[in-house]
Amino acid sequence: MKTKLIALIGVIAMVTGMAVFLNQRQQSAKATTTSAKIRVVSTNSILDDMVKNVGGQYVQNYSIVKRGTDPHEYEPRPTDIAATAEADVIFYNGLNLETGGNGWFKKLVTASKKDFDHDVFAASKGIKVKYLTTNVNEPDPHAWLDLANGIQYVKNINRTLQAKDPKHAAVYQKNTDRYVAKLTKLHESAQTKFKQIPTSQRLLVTSEGAFKYFSAAYHVPAAYIWEVNTESQGTPAQMRTALKKIEGTQVRSLFVESSVSPKSMNKLSQETGIPVASTIFTDSLAAKGKPGDTYYSMLKWNLDKIYAGLTRS
Ligand SMILES: [Zn+2]
Repeated sequence: MKTKLIALIGVIAMVTGMAVFLNQRQQSAKATTTSAKIRVVSTNSILDDMVKNVGGQYVQNYSIVKRGTDPHEYEPRPTDIAATAEADVIFYNGLNLETGGNGWFKKLVTASKKDFDHDVFAASKGIKVKYLTTNVNEPDPHAWLDLANGIQYVKNINRTLQAKDPKHAAVYQKNTDRYVAKLTKLHESAQTKFKQIPTSQRLLVTSEGAFKYFSAAYHVPAAYIWEVNTESQGTPAQMRTALKKIEGTQVRSLFVESSVSPKSMNKLSQETGIPVASTIFTDSLAAKGKPGDTYYSMLKWNLDKIYAGLTRS
């Protein structure tokens, strides 16, 4: 009953937000039509940063899920509905990322009167999907943690912006080429770096099992407490399984993600005596001005911290 009531309140809030927005839109219609920039909404800060790198000055960007928060579970606010309804292009990750809360993103698209494939696009299009081990039918969403996939996202974003705003297609292409070259360099250096670590020390332990794509790309197997953030987090059974995976390895560090509660990882650290070496980024960028505040610097930070943690004496 309580959940029904909360859901009803949510719907009322969405509808109210929409009405307020439409009213404001009528009043400001004149102002918005004169804007030369293409309006792009992304579901999270990582996609938003990619959009900025491709679109540069010709894009007016808006990120729905704010930095430091979890994009799996989200409750859209009236301002999010307004921005989405106004947008020319909307990017989401897809691959089962924005599906918490009974599909928060799908509901947002409906409330904003937008259409998938017409103005709503999955940045992950064409990625070779990895599936959850606990539910083999559900894709693991964290493809961007392998830079080669991130590059595919950037190319998809470029193609969509070029189609929607052909006037600036050459600029988008130039920005994309420069950005892809920078990401490729980081990807290639990481691929050689991790091979130097003895295999007995090569285990990346995090709270969420977000590193399947990362593991495959950089040859570092991964262990976790829970597999995906939409599950319950840190149950006794999950803690026991994680402990078992660590036992008998020579792993020297544990890691905790910036967008989850550190409680379970701290407990695992106490029980194993292995220190938590660093915070790393999975589902969100760092606050502006901090290390990890762009897609490039978040991946650079992860690669550096993971390498240092696994090799520390
Ligand atoms: Zn996640």
